[in-house]
Amino acid sequence: MDADLEHLLLIYALQNAVKHDAAPKSGTVIGTVLGKHPEFRSRARELGPLAGKAIAEVAAMSQAERKNRLETIAPELLAELSETHEHVRQLPALEGAENGVVMRFAPNPSGPLHLGHARASILNDYYVRRYGGRYVLRIEDTDPKRVDPEAYEMVREDIEWLGLGITDIVYQSDRLDIYYDLCRKLIEIGGAYVCVCDAERFRELKLKGKECPCREQTVEENLELWQRMLEGGFYEGDVTVRVKTDLAHPDPAMRDYSAMRIVNAPLHPRVDATVFPLMNFSVAVDDHLLGITHVIRGKDHIANTGRQRYIFEYFGWKPPVYRHYGRMGISGVVLSTSGMREGIKSGLYTGWDDVHLGTLRAIARRGIEAEAVRNAMVDIGIGETDISFSWENLYAKNKELVDPKANRYFFVPDPVEVTVAGAPLHSAHAALHPADPSRGVRTLVAEGRVLLPKADIEGRSMVRLKDLYNIRLEQVGDVLEVSYAGDSLEDARREKAPIIQWLPAGTGLPCTILRQEGDLSGLCEPLVAGEADRVVQFERIGFARIDSADGGRVSAYFAHR
Ligand code: GLU
Repeated sequence: MDADLEHLLLIYALQNAVKHDAAPKSGTVIGTVLGKHPEFRSRARELGPLAGKAIAEVAAMSQAERKNRLETIAPELLAELSETHEHVRQLPALEGAENGVVMRFAPNPSGPLHLGHARASILNDYYVRRYGGRYVLRIEDTDPKRVDPEAYEMVREDIEWLGLGITDIVYQSDRLDIYYDLCRKLIEIGGAYVCVCDAERFRELKLKGKECPCREQTVEENLELWQRMLEGGFYEGDVTVRVKTDLAHPDPAMRDYSAMRIVNAPLHPRVDATVFPLMNFSVAVDDHLLGITHVIRGKDHIANTGRQRYIFEYFGWKPPVYRHYGRMGISGVVLSTSGMREGIKSGLYTGWDDVHLGTLRAIARRGIEAEAVRNAMVDIGIGETDISFSWENLYAKNKELVDPKANRYFFVPDPVEVTVAGAPLHSAHAALHPADPSRGVRTLVAEGRVLLPKADIEGRSMVRLKDLYNIRLEQVGDVLEVSYAGDSLEDARREKAPIIQWLPAGTGLPCTILRQEGDLSGLCEPLVAGEADRVVQFERIGFARIDSADGGRVSAYFAHR
């Protein structure tokens, strides 16, 4: 009997995980088992612990393993998925990934994550889920000039929001001794030298393909200089450790690049040090030491990949498989960290989650879900062609998720109060959700005085108040005369009367909808006060997240239409 139950839990956990390409959800799995096998309902209490076991087992598998297993033990459930559900878009296979991967997301803690980071982190995450393995979060904080101490926490929160399957976290600032040690080794094997040339002078020589005098120093001389660097014998800008590459390389940016430098100010928030690796050195060292098998990053890193390969070659390490995706232009929002920081300082933006910004926290505040961001990024994929980010696609993905959940409410921008002559005492019973009658209705009692959106009645002779009745409008001199014009929807259609939002006079809550194109102020239904932190649909306006509803005032963040 128990074997049966365990089997059922396992197959439905597998089916749930395959369907969503994620760890199975306990509630859903138990619900499915009880729905299909009501004979187990009397034992519902035992299900929790047993389901936990099945879920843990499935969560540890790669997506490929889950499919294989399901195909072996319950092929009909796998078939069911392809019949009824669109498959999650498949991205191209990664070479050499069949036995699992180790990948990484390597942000600099200089601010919160934005849509650009979302692409890198979601695509790497996608492949770790697909092939199974480890996903390392590597905080690249070796440039004290670009570390924002508050960003450590923001990055952590953003990753949690995105739901990345991070398995390991490393901070590069904890690893300085490792970089020092390997820098010394690189000097010892003749792969690097300590350069004390003036930066401008070095640049001139480099552009001509000529070596600087430091390149000729002996290993002993270099080691001595390196020791002096570590002991504080130099100041910022005096000295740098250079990797010996190829001075005849067609791309001057590849020639003898810097691997280590001194930064005296500002002080690093986490470590007491002045010698720091530059990105190409620490990235190569860590990709090797952390066993990274595949790196998916933007084309803007192609030159870095070239630089990093020198380190792999000097040490005889096998480099990871690199894939570089095309650039992604993102219009309409501010993305540069320094631009955002300035704007926040000057009061132009309210914070990192201001509605005008392209940070993940701004997007979340607008009620756009992480799953929508993920689906939009997987759609974009890892192609090499440069593209521009489609907000419309993100909105469409989000709409799929929020439309079934969001309750509907009236919002009346710029309200005008009118008396409807001859109106019967009528109540409107408007569905909270048109597709889900079980949620019930909002009852709006119209006693003849109503609030109407100014822009919707201007120049109109007839409008229909949604779920209520038709009204006729007539401008007589300075006075707008409004009268009851029957209940018939047919009449309204015949006269092409628009169906508009309205509120009973004296009932609305002041409501501001923050939008990129400018805020919208008006009144909304009082029930909206109970929707804090949820997404609602303001009919004819669009979806918005109720950000706060304190003290009788509602503040909402606009998501999309
Ligand atoms: N921390 C760097 C960045 O965010 C490195 C990323 C990488 O090597 O992929 O641009």
